[in-house]
Amino acid sequence: MKIIIVSKRHNQSRSFTLGGWTRALLSVCLLGMPAALGAIGYAWLTGPGSGAERVNAESLQAWEKALEEQQQQVEQTRKETRAQLTALTVKMGELQGRLVRLDALGERLTHMAQLDEGEFDFSSTPGVGGPETAFADENYSPPDILTVVDQLSSQIENRQQQLEVLESLLASKKIEDDTFVAGRPVAKGWISSRYGRRTDPFTGKSAFHGGIDFSAKSGTEITSVAAGVVTRAGKDRAYGYMVEINHGAGYVTRYAHNKENLVKVGDVVKKGQIIGLVGSTGRSTGAHVHFEVYKHGRSIDPATYIHRASR
Ligand SMILES: [Zn+2]
Repeated sequence: MKIIIVSKRHNQSRSFTLGGWTRALLSVCLLGMPAALGAIGYAWLTGPGSGAERVNAESLQAWEKALEEQQQQVEQTRKETRAQLTALTVKMGELQGRLVRLDALGERLTHMAQLDEGEFDFSSTPGVGGPETAFADENYSPPDILTVVDQLSSQIENRQQQLEVLESLLASKKIEDDTFVAGRPVAKGWISSRYGRRTDPFTGKSAFHGGIDFSAKSGTEITSVAAGVVTRAGKDRAYGYMVEINHGAGYVTRYAHNKENLVKVGDVVKKGQIIGLVGSTGRSTGAHVHFEVYKHGRSIDPATYIHRASR
């Protein structure tokens, strides 16, 4: 008898030639064992003093007990799983809530930044819908947690990317916004004279008033209505102490009749920075700021710039 063993891994084969004794032993192993086992088993089941009935009754009890234990285990596992599912569902509800808030923030930012509405679609897939918590139903089939979690995480990733782009856009827009001429040069103070033709307070004749006068207490802080560079800061016979700021994009503002100038030519000023104090220097009848706005060298009514909202 020849036995050939082929190794799968090495694609090699080995052969053994078995002699008479080994052959006999192998035959016993292969054929004899099952036969012997069968005979023993039969003898055990039907043998004298150990009837099949007793075996059945005993094993049935054992099986029932085992089954009961298994059922209890299954019930326990089910309870635990439900508890975990509830916790997970609540957690997912929280995440969805956060996502809704993120979406709202994104939309508000998009609106504030005055970006094209199509540029950022924060309302595309709003994570609405609270968690399902009805676990009492026996036919309850749990949601595919992994799918929901995957959806949520991809939504969050998407929002994060959108917000990052939005942030960089806003950062570059910031400079533009700060140089945007808007607001008034004094926090407190009433408009005592508007822009346009008026009776000159000194001559009593009709004259053109090239700015808006804000009446305010002497010493009140005058602030720049936008960021820019100081192009004039000195004393003038008519303007008195006056500051002129260039904001770029053709815009220039002037603040006149000051008690004192607090900036000098070449200073870079921020929006809202204090540039001087209210006074009555030059051709002035009382403490006030004479505020002028120029666009591309032409005097324009500051009213529209005072009233337009900062962006
Ligand atoms: Zn004036």
